[in-house]
Parts: sequence; C-alpha cells; structure tokens
Amino acid sequence: MDTAGTVVERDAVVIGAGISGLVTAKCLKEDGYDVIMLERSSDVGGLWTFREHDYGVMKFTHINVSKYNYCFSDYPFPDSTPDYPHHTDMARYVKDYATHFRLLELVQFNVKVVSVEQTGEKWRITACKVKDDGKAGEETDVKIVFVCSYLAVTSGHHAKPSYPKFPGEDTFPGECCRLLWGLNPKMGALQTQPTVSPTLIHHIQRRNVKIVPNITRIEGRTVHFVNGYSAEFDKILYCTGYKIDLPFLPESVKSHVLQEGSNYIKLYKNVFAPHVGSSLAFIGFVQPASGGILTMAETQARWFSALCKGKVRLPSAPEMELDIKTEKKEAESRWYQSARHTIQKDPILYCDEVAAMIGAKPDPLKNPLLAWRLLFSTCGAAQYRLTGPHSWSGAREQVLRVPVTDMWRYSSYLLIAFLLFALYYVLSTVCGIFCAFS
Ligand SMILES: Cc1cc2nc3c(=O)[nH]c(=O)nc-3n(C[C@H](O)[C@H](O)[C@H](O)COP(=O)(O)OP(=O)(O)OC[C@H]3O[C@@H](n4cnc5c(N)ncnc54)[C@H](O)[C@@H]3O)c2cc1C
Repeated sequence: MDTAGTVVERDAVVIGAGISGLVTAKCLKEDGYDVIMLERSSDVGGLWTFREHDYGVMKFTHINVSKYNYCFSDYPFPDSTPDYPHHTDMARYVKDYATHFRLLELVQFNVKVVSVEQTGEKWRITACKVKDDGKAGEETDVKIVFVCSYLAVTSGHHAKPSYPKFPGEDTFPGECCRLLWGLNPKMGALQTQPTVSPTLIHHIQRRNVKIVPNITRIEGRTVHFVNGYSAEFDKILYCTGYKIDLPFLPESVKSHVLQEGSNYIKLYKNVFAPHVGSSLAFIGFVQPASGGILTMAETQARWFSALCKGKVRLPSAPEMELDIKTEKKEAESRWYQSARHTIQKDPILYCDEVAAMIGAKPDPLKNPLLAWRLLFSTCGAAQYRLTGPHSWSGAREQVLRVPVTDMWRYSSYLLIAFLLFALYYVLSTVCGIFCAFS
C-alpha cells in the first residue's frame, strides 16, 4: 500500500489494456459490472501501439490478417482503412474502439501489477506506479491495492522475448536484433501457420536468402552451423519469438497453469484453471492457426462475462481436466512440437465452440439468407454478433460486406456441383435398385 494506504474495490479488475483487456472490460461493463483496467504503459493498444524502446510492432509492421477478420465483432474498421492495415491504423482503430465504448475512463495508466492473491471469494491485486512509458518502466514505491470478485489476466502471450544461448555469442562484434518468429525448416506444411510473402521464395531461389540448420557456435564474426557450414556475418537477427510470462501470479495458481520451460498453459479452453473456477480468466492466451486472435479473445471475454453473470456454468473440475488432456494430445499430433504451438487453435472451430456455450454460434438455419456466407465463405467477426449476449443489429449487414474472394467463390461452386452430382448418383442408384425389384 502507498503512504495514503489506497485500497480500491471494484467488481472486476482487468490486467492490461491491449485488445484483449479492452474487449474484456467492454463485455463486463455491458453486463453491468464496475470494472477497472490496470495498464503499465501510458496508452491502450498493447503490442499494436508502437514504442521506440520496447518490443512489439516495428515501424514497418502491417498486420498479416484482413481487417474483416481481425476486428471487434460489433465495431468494423472504417472503409477508408486499407485491408491488411499498417500498425498505426491498427493502433488508431483500437483507440477509436476504446473511445467509442467509453473504455478509456476505465484505465489506470502507468500502473503495473506486481502480485495477485486469492483471499476467500475475493482477488487482491497489488500494483505499483511506474515512472516512464513502456514495459521496462521503472517501478516507484507508490503501491495501490485493488480488491475484486472477478479477475481477468489480459497481459498478452507475447510477453517475454525468448533468447536462445549459443556458445561464443559474446564474442560476436556485430549487432543483434530480436524479431517475432522465423522459419523452421523442420516444420511440415500444415504443422504451423503459413508464412505469406510474395518475395521470400524469389529470394531463396536466387540464393539471396539461404536456409541453414541451427547454430552450433559463434567465433567473432564467424557463425558455425549444424551442417558444418560457416560464414562471416555483420548482424544476427533472432526471430525466436516470445514466451508467456505471468510473474505476478501466486505460486498456487502459476504452478498449475504455466509450464515455463515449454510455454505450455494448462487451462480449460485456454481460459480457466479448473482448480480455481470462473472467477479468474486468462483472455488472449491463444494463438490462431490462421487469422487473428481478436475474435478469439472477444469470444472468450463474452463467455467470461456470461459466467460471472451466472448465465452459464463451467463443467466440473475433473471434466475440465479431462478436456485439457484430450486437447493437448490432439494438438501434439497436429502441430509441430515447439514453444510457438503450445496454445495454437483453429480460430473458426475454437470460436464456434466457445460461442456455442453462450448461444452466439451463428446458425445457418436461423439465418437462411446468410447461409451461403456462413457455410462457404470467410464471414468475418460480425457473424458472432448475429445472436447471443449483446448481439448487434448491424451484424447481418456487416457479414454481407465482407468481400468474397474468387478462391472462396469457385471453391463453393465446386463443392455445390460435387454435392449435386453425389445426390444425382445416389438417387439414380436407388431408382435403379427399385426398378430392378419391381
Ligand atoms: C511484432 C508483432 C506482430 C504481430 N502481428 C500479428 C498479426 O499480424 N496478426 C495477429 O493476429 N497477431 C499478431 N500479433 C500477435 C499479438 O500478440 C496479438 O494480435 C494482440 O496484439 C495481442 O493482444 P493482447 O491484448 O492479448 O496482448 P498485448 O497486446 O501484449 O497487451 C497486453 C497489455 O498488458 C499490459 N501488461 C502486461 N503486463 C502487465 C502488468 N504486470 N501490469 C499492467 N499491465 C500489464 C501490456 O503493457 C500491454 O499493454 C503480433 C505480435 C507481435 C509482437
């Protein structure tokens, strides 16, 4: 506590004001909860808000997902924003969302959560004021305690840069930079999300880019690789990704939830710890196999709020444990085993499953005029606002506004032609059998 002994009581506390934090606070607010967001930096937007001396987006980062798919389900991007927006467009969009839904006034900026404990039915969160912007903000001894019934951890799963150690790396005289993720030549085509680049293959073909296996050691400027190849370099770019980091969690929760070495989180549907229940949610701890995390985080947040309201219930702890085990096994057989894929999910299947729990899964039978879109095309985020809690009257129109690419169009024509042919074949076979016996 600070010298004034500040204790702030709220219904719900949200740790972080990136996209996951904002959408969680919005859902809780809509359901009538008194909610506060604690954000260690001085702005909303998380990784999308560029900071000079911090990790997150770089000056040239564009999102690799269409704006129709990476958006809040009841707040589409303006028409003027290009598809696959630049990070400045993303940051502006997130800020506009926060302004539109009056979320900025719920954020306490430059407040970093340092510890969390559960006392009876309540959560007690200790935070400190930080001096400057950024995640490395210097802590002050001004401490504030927050007490709440519902706690959402939305501090991001790209929280801690993952640094490999190579023998001799201290002898390298050049510059070392850290970026998001690189290519791993061992990964099969469907064992990771695809890398989309119009120029990479061209550069590999022309030998401007050479793919080599791992580094064995570094001697000055010379880097040695596993296959015996070595060469001199001026710069090393570590595209080795980020890890989950939850330093503020009490050991009684963290030891159940996070395996730090492997980056694996043990949560029911990536949101709830079975031994804790629905008063603590982890929102945004999921990696989309394709598409964006935003709709996944939003669907999780709507589910969390519905649970707080008592509109739905979690299964029993043993049932949740069993589900976690089953999903882990499935993931291990599907994705390449690495720290990057521990929280990987197919976004449409995942959102459908979670949305179904709160009645927000789009139903083609109830929306016959949208059925073609819902079944055969990428219908964006608004499809999850057609029904369910806080459905949106503009959802139908927004689903229809998502452009249908030629690939989707022709694939669906092919599928329909195939189904008609199969139907014709079955009917003619049945008729043939019937005629033969009559
Ligand atoms: C360089 C880069 C590019 C990316 N590009 C894409 C992309 O193209 N498509 C895609 O789908 N995803 C992309 N991502 C993934 C990205 O993580 C998500 O899209 C999304 O921004 C995650 O939002 P979040 O709110 O969950 O987490 P974050 O954006 O990380 O926000 C977490 C917030 O919590 C705050 N916080 C953390 N700890 C504390 C604490 N102790 N106390 C108080 N506040 C705290 C942080 O300051 C931050 O504001 C990219 C990530 C990176 C790093």
